[in-house]
Amino acid sequence: MSADRRLNELTAHELSGLFSSGEVSAREVLAAVYERIDEVEDEIHAYVLETREVAEAQAREIDERRAQKEELPPLAGVPIALKDIYCTKGIETTCGSRILKGFVPPYDADVIERCRRNGLVFVGKTNMDEFAMGSSTETSCFGPTRNPWDSSRVAGGSSGGSAAAVAAGEATCALGSDTGGSVRQPASFCGVVGLKPTYGLVSRYGLIAYASSLDCVGPITKDVMDCALLLGVLAGYDWRDSTSIAQPLPDYVRALERSTVRALRIGIPREFLGEGIDPEVKEAVLRSAQTLEGLGARCEDVSLPRIPYAVPCYYIIALAEASSNLARYDGVQYGYRNDRTTDIIGMYSASRTAGFGAEVKRRMMLGTYTLSAGYYDDFYLKAQQVRTLIRRDFEKAFESCDVLLGPTYPSPPFRLGELIDDPLQMYLSDIYTVCANLAGIPAISVPCGCSRRGLPIGAQMLSPALSEQRLLTTAYCLERALPKIRKPQAGKG
Ligand code: GLN
Repeated sequence: MSADRRLNELTAHELSGLFSSGEVSAREVLAAVYERIDEVEDEIHAYVLETREVAEAQAREIDERRAQKEELPPLAGVPIALKDIYCTKGIETTCGSRILKGFVPPYDADVIERCRRNGLVFVGKTNMDEFAMGSSTETSCFGPTRNPWDSSRVAGGSSGGSAAAVAAGEATCALGSDTGGSVRQPASFCGVVGLKPTYGLVSRYGLIAYASSLDCVGPITKDVMDCALLLGVLAGYDWRDSTSIAQPLPDYVRALERSTVRALRIGIPREFLGEGIDPEVKEAVLRSAQTLEGLGARCEDVSLPRIPYAVPCYYIIALAEASSNLARYDGVQYGYRNDRTTDIIGMYSASRTAGFGAEVKRRMMLGTYTLSAGYYDDFYLKAQQVRTLIRRDFEKAFESCDVLLGPTYPSPPFRLGELIDDPLQMYLSDIYTVCANLAGIPAISVPCGCSRRGLPIGAQMLSPALSEQRLLTTAYCLERALPKIRKPQAGKG
C-alpha cells in the first residue's frame, strides 16, 4: 500500500492482503469509508440509506473471528454498497420509488445472503432510477446522484449510486443490476469496472423485478481483479430462481493469474462505431483495440446486422415485462397506500397515481399497450422474433472471434437535466448495452481513457454465454496495458 492512499481508496484485493497480514482491521477500513461519506455525500448523493449500525456490527464480528485465527473468505471485512433494488432482511428497500417507501423486506436476496456468508460489510443502500428505469439516476424519488468527476453531470444509471459510491471512495465495491446496461453504463460514466454476467449465472431471487427475462445482478468495482473476486461470491445455482444455471463454477481469479490475449481474436462490430458516437469515445475505443493488438491479439471488423433493431426490440420486451411485474404494487400488502377513498378500486388508483413517478407510469402504459389484444402480434411477438435474430447475430460473430470490443455508451457523462425531458434520446443511447441483455451473454465495461474535458470513457467487451473467464482475462490485460486514469475530483470543491 502506498502511504498517500487512504484505506477507503484501496481495492478489495489490496484490503484482503492487509486483513490477512493483520495490518488493518475491518473496523478501521469501515471508519475510513464513513469518514469519506461524511466528506462528499452532500455533493454526490450516492446513498439513500446508510446502514452504519449493521456495518459496524458486521465489521466487529469479522475482526473478532480473525482474532480467533479463523480462516475467512477473501472478501471478509470489505465494505460493499448495495443498490436499493435488493431485498435486505430488516433493512428498508425502496427501489428508488415512493411506492415502496417504508418497505422492510422479511428476507434477503440470494446475492445478499452470499455477501453475508462471505463477510462483506454493508455500508448502505444506493440511489437508483425508480425501478431501474433510466440511464441517469434522475428518475429516483430521492433526487439524482452526481458524478464524482464533475458534479454538474450525471453518474449514469440506473445503478448510478453504486458506481458513484465506488468511484468516490464511499465503498470499496458495489452491487448494481443490469437489465439493459445499468451496471456497465454508470461504471463507464464514473471510471470504474462493471460486469453484466451471463443470464442465469447469478440468482435473481430477491432482486426486485423490472424485466425478468433481461434482469442480471452485476458487480461494480475499482478494477478487474475485484470484479473477478466479487463475481466468485455472487455466482452459483439457486433453486429459488427458475432460470438459475446449475453447473460447476470456474475460479475467476485464478484465470487472471495466467492471463494473456496472445492470438485472441477480437471482433469490432462496425455497427458499434457508426453514426451517433462521440468522436472522443470512438478514438478511445480504437486506442484500446490497438493496445490489445500490441499485446498479441488480432482485431478484425465484424458485423451484427440487426443491431439497429436492438433498441426498439429491447423497449418493447422490457416494458411489456415491466407492466406485468409492476402490477403487484397496489397499496394492499406493502409500501405506500392512499386510502382517502372509500372503494378498493379508488384506493388502487390513488396509491399508484401518487406512488409511481412519471417515467415508470409512461413505461407501464407503453408495456400494457404492446401486450393488449390486437397489438400483441404486431409488437410483442415481433420483438421476440427480432430478439432471436439478434442472438443469432452474436452466435455468428462468435464463430470468427472470441471477444467483441466496442464502446459502452455513445458519449461521456452528460449534464444533469440534459436528457431527462427527451426520453426517446435517452432510450436510443442504450444502443450498445441492450444487445447483451437481449442475447443473454456477458459484457464488461472497463475505463479506457478520459475525454479532453477530463471525463471517463468506458470500453465494453462481450463474449459468449458462460465465458466470463475469457472476458475477465481480456479486460484484465487491457486494464494493465492502458495508462491509469487519474482520480475523480469529488470533495475538492
Ligand atoms: N437504460 C435502460 C432502461 O432504462 C437500462 C436500465 C437497466 O439496465 N436497468 O431500461
